[in-house]
Amino acid sequence: MTLPNFPSLWMTEEHEMLRESVKRYIEQKWVPRAAEFRELGRLPPEVWREAAANGLLCVSTPADYGGGGGNFAHEAVILLEQARANLSGWGGGLHSAIVAPYIIHHGTEEQKRRWLPKMCTAEFITAIAMTEPGTGSDLQSVRTTAKRDGDHYVINGAKTFITNGQNANLIAVVARTGDGGAKGMSLVFVETDAGGEGRDSTPGFRRGRQLDKVGMKAQDTSELFFDDVRVPAENLLGMKEGQGFFQLMQELPQERLIIAVSGIGAMERALEETLKYTKERKAFGKTVWDFQNTKFKLAEVQATVLATRAFVDACMVSHLKGELDAARAALAKAWVSEQQCKVMDECLQLFGGYGYMMEYPIAELYVDARVQRIYGGTNEIMKELAARFM
Ligand SMILES: Cc1cc2nc3c(=O)[nH]c(=O)nc-3n(C[C@H](O)[C@H](O)[C@H](O)COP(=O)(O)OP(=O)(O)OC[C@H]3O[C@@H](n4cnc5c(N)ncnc54)[C@H](O)[C@@H]3O)c2cc1C
Repeated sequence: MTLPNFPSLWMTEEHEMLRESVKRYIEQKWVPRAAEFRELGRLPPEVWREAAANGLLCVSTPADYGGGGGNFAHEAVILLEQARANLSGWGGGLHSAIVAPYIIHHGTEEQKRRWLPKMCTAEFITAIAMTEPGTGSDLQSVRTTAKRDGDHYVINGAKTFITNGQNANLIAVVARTGDGGAKGMSLVFVETDAGGEGRDSTPGFRRGRQLDKVGMKAQDTSELFFDDVRVPAENLLGMKEGQGFFQLMQELPQERLIIAVSGIGAMERALEETLKYTKERKAFGKTVWDFQNTKFKLAEVQATVLATRAFVDACMVSHLKGELDAARAALAKAWVSEQQCKVMDECLQLFGGYGYMMEYPIAELYVDARVQRIYGGTNEIMKELAARFM
């Protein structure tokens, strides 16, 4: 038994009902197939489509465009349950709560009508391609270009570490449409027809390797290459050049909150697993739980989880009122991911050698946690950003 959490002030009865149904769906449909997804390195497009049909995709997209008509709290409920189920490989959160908001907040009406309904059914699976082999943290140094040529843009460049990179058939590419610096950046969408089937007919577009990662084995993180890829000028987000950096800065706080929310779900699961294990495992004629060290460690973990969740809940309340600033979102991302890595390490230790075996969920929780301090902006960058407001 773990202590119940303090009630999350942002959660209503409706969110609780959604939580129950998402939990049931994931337990019945995905947990039994988790090993298969890891082996394949992704959740196949038909699994995405089934998830969409069962209300797990684009829950915060307005109903007018085929979405669930909810808000970020609905997305957070799904993210929490996905993390608790130890299924970090599904990139549904990025699709629904990162890419869709770019289109909702910055797209033209025509772009919303063209892309959102198909995203809600997973006919389009999306990715956002910012990072390049030569630049990640220093986003303003991206070298991928999108040059206007009549009524088209011609894209050239290479991207790497792109989540949903093999499945995606609608890719938001951060590219340079003008001179150096923030004002020369734009977001240009590329439609392809692969959706994970490997049949890209978009001339000049190529998917590279599905990258072999330390963790997140069921996530298709990939390289993407653009070699004179022509897209209609109508694929420029908002139809106005030079808005990319501004659009990214507006949406990144939510991306950081997503990482924080997922971290909470993962820590809660780790604590639960460790309590269960230590109360069963015997050493020196008693259970591992009976050692005072175990009780102290897990009491500390419990305190960390409760305190970290309280911080994230406060950020959630603020965000739902449209008041979460970039600095607090950055601190939440950095703080939670650091606590998450410490918690996973403490918990894994209490499993002894079994903690190092992938068949125990704690091992996967441990390796999956590590990237949380890196992606979505490294924790060093988060602290730089937060310090500007101190
Ligand atoms: C699993 C995974 C999924 C990802 N998904 C996506 C995705 O979907 N889309 C996407 O565009 N990207 C994605 N990324 C990329 C990710 O966002 C970058 O890896 C991250 O932003 C860091 O960039 P980098 O790897 O180039 O590291 P670098 O920028 O080269 O940083 C190297 C080190 O230098 C430090 N550093 C850099 N600048 C500073 C500074 N000013 N002050 C102090 N320290 C500094 C960093 O903190 C880091 O420790 C993903 C990465 C991973 C691993």
